[in-house]
Amino acid sequence: MWKNVGYYNGEMGPLEEMKVPMGDRALYFGDGIYEATCVANRVPFALDDHLDRMYNSLRLLEIPFRRDRDWVRGELQRVIDAAEDAPVHLLYWQISRGNCPRSHPFPPKEVEPALMITIRPHQMKSMDRPYRLISLEDNRFKLCNIKTLNLIPSVLANQRAVERGCDEAVLHRGTRVTECAHSNISILKDGVLRTAPTDELILPGITRKHLLALAREHGIPVEETPFSMVELMNADEAIVTSSSALCMRVESIDGIPVGGRDQERLKLLQAAYWEKFQRETGGAARR
Ligand code: PLP
Repeated sequence: MWKNVGYYNGEMGPLEEMKVPMGDRALYFGDGIYEATCVANRVPFALDDHLDRMYNSLRLLEIPFRRDRDWVRGELQRVIDAAEDAPVHLLYWQISRGNCPRSHPFPPKEVEPALMITIRPHQMKSMDRPYRLISLEDNRFKLCNIKTLNLIPSVLANQRAVERGCDEAVLHRGTRVTECAHSNISILKDGVLRTAPTDELILPGITRKHLLALAREHGIPVEETPFSMVELMNADEAIVTSSSALCMRVESIDGIPVGGRDQERLKLLQAAYWEKFQRETGGAARR
């Protein structure tokens, strides 16, 4: 067992010592897709949703990954089981178009896609701690619905946020809010939960999907329509969602206070989410 575990095409070891071959197309082109989810009690949260999205991303990028869900599930579990105990782990995996000499066109058919997996202990933030955001123009390309490894605009956006003492960057195309650098964003306004529709401008987040389902279950109407920066600034609450942090309330954007006007619905949704996470992972995760 290791604290941080690395896996590459069937080989496993301490993450710090694992190596990938120099021909892996993830290195040259970011030519691959990834997924990440929290693990508690050695149970990966919402794995079926992540596998659905993984196969969809593979299809959209035309990566000929031949292994089935049960095989992937088994390899992920092998890595999870090789990790030392921790209250929560973050499980990450990526599939690249494979290993062959650098050349833009797809490799020959016999080149198999490469699976890489890592797991590390993960400190989940308390949902009581509000997020501070900065806003930035969304300068990403228009394949944001695919969870590709090409993340440079998101890396730069998140770095700008950290440099300003903030947690995340909310991105907009003109006035329209899309999502955050590595999260989705939703608003509560007049009792309605509103979030951008799942088009090519946002990643269809698993946490976003669960949040909408939980809202409906609790009688909160949901609208999947775009909203503007002005609407975001005037929201009763703004909620940032991702698999690694679940549902975080926003307290400011660019230093201007935001939200704080519908704590009842916000807390209900956060509690419902946390209850779902605990129920589906066996209940012992700590926050
Ligand atoms: N949007 C982007 C751009 C992301 O990178 C992520 C997560 O990595 C999300 C949204 C949230 O998705 P999920 O809830 O599936 O983690």
